Amino acid sequence: MPTYDFKCLECGKQFERSQKMSEEPLRVCIYCKGKVERLIGTGGGIIFKGSGFYATDYKKPDKTPKASEKKSEKKKE
Ligand SMILES: [Zn+2]
Repeated sequence: MPTYDFKCLECGKQFERSQKMSEEPLRVCIYCKGKVERLIGTGGGIIFKGSGFYATDYKKPDKTPKASEKKSEKKKE
């Protein structure tokens, strides 16, 4: 059973009410019988499709300057 969020336009209270799909949405506040509006999209079910990967195939520079190899010279005493 889906849960709907309502906000009362009279008293400003928010409440949620689970209703059948076939059932008419609530129109009056459960507190003050005032007029309510249905809040859409706040009751969950929001899916963030994350396209969160970036192309990381940038080429590393091939020219890695070879550091002149240090010859381990034996020190003459
Ligand atoms: Zn109310």
